[in-house]
Amino acid sequence: MKKFFEKVLIANRGEIALRVHRACKELGIKTVAVHSSADNEAMHVKLADESVCIGPPQAKDSYLNIPSIISACEITGAEAVHPGYGFLSENAHFVEILEAHNLTFIGPSSEHIQIMGDKITAKETVSKLGIPVVPGSEGKIEDLNHAKKIADEIGYPILIKASSGGGGKGMKIAHAPTDLENAFNLARVEAKASFGDDTVYIEKYLNAPRHIEIQIFGDKHGNAIHLGERDCSLQRRNQKVLEEATSPVIDDNQREKIGNIASQAISKLGYVGAGTIEFLYQNGEFYFIEMNTRLQVEHPITEIITNIDLVKEQISVAAGSKLSLKQENVRINGHAIECRINAENPETFVPSAGKIITYHPASGPGVRVDSAAYAGYSIPPYYDSMIGKLIVFGQDRNDCLAKLDRALDEFVIEGVETTLPLFKDLLRNNDIQEGNYNIHWLEQYLDQ
Ligand code: ADP
Repeated sequence: MKKFFEKVLIANRGEIALRVHRACKELGIKTVAVHSSADNEAMHVKLADESVCIGPPQAKDSYLNIPSIISACEITGAEAVHPGYGFLSENAHFVEILEAHNLTFIGPSSEHIQIMGDKITAKETVSKLGIPVVPGSEGKIEDLNHAKKIADEIGYPILIKASSGGGGKGMKIAHAPTDLENAFNLARVEAKASFGDDTVYIEKYLNAPRHIEIQIFGDKHGNAIHLGERDCSLQRRNQKVLEEATSPVIDDNQREKIGNIASQAISKLGYVGAGTIEFLYQNGEFYFIEMNTRLQVEHPITEIITNIDLVKEQISVAAGSKLSLKQENVRINGHAIECRINAENPETFVPSAGKIITYHPASGPGVRVDSAAYAGYSIPPYYDSMIGKLIVFGQDRNDCLAKLDRALDEFVIEGVETTLPLFKDLLRNNDIQEGNYNIHWLEQYLDQ
């Protein structure tokens, strides 16, 4: 077996650190875990070949502490860094510093991260590459008069969005001209407070779209492929809650068409590594909203229906290998659903930190659990509340739903509250059973 690297440092925590560790071990690569002082007992630290404490609990002092991570690479002799998702995974500055230290970043170039990190630039770039975008302003909005002019041209309702946006922050709707001034000012203030940048742009507000994203992959030899779509329309406060692949509303022709548009665009861009092109989908049309230049939380559902290990592929491409397969060899089989299990009250969504007393993950045919939790583990209050992902696969959507229902009955977590009961409720709903939902569905359901 070809060894891509001798040693990889995993600059993350929780289930994704473990996921990367597993891929490395299967490739014969040694792993280095980094962790904060709150994560001494974390699973990724226990399983890695070596571990380095890089700072106190607050993420800014540890998982976001670039000098500490570089030192950890030097002390341990790691040659490459896998960033997981979140933390430093989309930080172009981090990638530049790694390059300056002769360390390989398992991900795209700093230039591509930068382009996609600024939403106005991202939209302009992909539009030129032939990807359909949401109608809206070309570039930034200068002032209120400019906003009025654009809003009148595209027609209400419109959405004001922050160019540096993320997590739904700096995003405000104006349903009518009378809402515009307020929405414009609020979006700018929120954007400035959250990102230190009040640059905003305008998009047509789509009233009932689905969120459908395409997984793409590029290598350093100019090859690019797509691995089909994921439907992530079940969201609460712009956070994905349940994802499925394939989408209940996309057929093979549509998949091939939008997939090819996406892979051709990233090939022209010279993009290297895994990426996700996110679209809103309404009335049979796709509209680009953003590109994520990293592995996604929901990547396992694509792994299952394509039988491709995305993390191993990331590692091999970063080491300079060609993509392991061509588009014509990508086969999509069956159906997969992922439920994000958060340590939260399933009705109020208030985080529930504390000690897990009982932990019995579901298993059996068609069940995969990606989690770093174990009985006796105390969930620290400093990080996000996701404690695991229940991923289920079936021959088709109905088989997958039946397996999910059964798996949810088996899964037992005691000691902290979790969102497991929410999924059991969702499965009883007709709209969910029929795949009939859009990005507003879950919030409307929870409001009832
Ligand atoms: P962020 O990076 O802040 O998450 P996105 O551009 O990815 O911002 O959008 C987040 C979510 O906001 C989308 O998944 C969708 O639910 C909603 N959204 C974004 N743009 C539009 C739009 N033009 N019309 C309707 N909803 C939108």
